[in-house]
Amino acid sequence: MCLSLIGWFNLDSFINERKLLFFGRICNLPQRAISFRILVRRLFELQYFNQQNINCASDFSKDCVDLFYIHHLSDYLTKFMTSETFPSQRIWKRIVYRSIFEYELKEWQQRISIDNDLNIFQKIFKIFHPHPAWTVVLDFPYLRKQANYIVSLCCSVHNTNSDIILCDKCGKHFSDPCIQEISSCDYLSNIRDEFWCELLCIKPINFSAFLGSLADEEFCYLLLSGETEFDLNCEQKKLFKFLCVIRY
Ligand SMILES: [Zn+2]
Repeated sequence: MCLSLIGWFNLDSFINERKLLFFGRICNLPQRAISFRILVRRLFELQYFNQQNINCASDFSKDCVDLFYIHHLSDYLTKFMTSETFPSQRIWKRIVYRSIFEYELKEWQQRISIDNDLNIFQKIFKIFHPHPAWTVVLDFPYLRKQANYIVSLCCSVHNTNSDIILCDKCGKHFSDPCIQEISSCDYLSNIRDEFWCELLCIKPINFSAFLGSLADEEFCYLLLSGETEFDLNCEQKKLFKFLCVIRY
């Protein structure tokens, strides 16, 4: 789950990607090349003999054949076995990157949708790409600490059995400390007012009205995600992301 916040795949996927690319490289070698001939022979052995009879504790060809099936690429393998034709290295790269990405995305979506603890994370982070806070840090490295804090807030497991807690600063009841601090606690209203002044500087007044109309919970998640679907231009989006990070 957390790797998605920096736009990384699992290590397994990275290794599988390398294996498939290397497989493609061998398939594109001239037919007289030894590696090519060994690979073709191994593929025929795997196809026509019982796999258990083949002595292969760790077998590159077998791993690759499994990967072709897992990533729905078996048509390319069948075509290679029947006619020895295979996509060129450039096209194969694109095919592998796309299929690995689709596979990882599906796995990631399944992982976060089956676990109740992650339902807040799901609301904050809908797309598999580096969290906007990290892209802000590329331009403003001194905000690294703040970015780190936001990302850790996104990953924190929230209390889902809704125990009500009393705030000792303002006397309000709350169930989610994150929402309480960001959008609700009266004790922090001065800081919140300053932040609103900064948000107003983004310019379109209807954007401020849109933010103002959000419920506490929605507003909190929007700030944590650092992204909005509201129609802002590129500069305004950048400023919004920056403000979301710097306020921590
Ligand atoms: Zn309070």
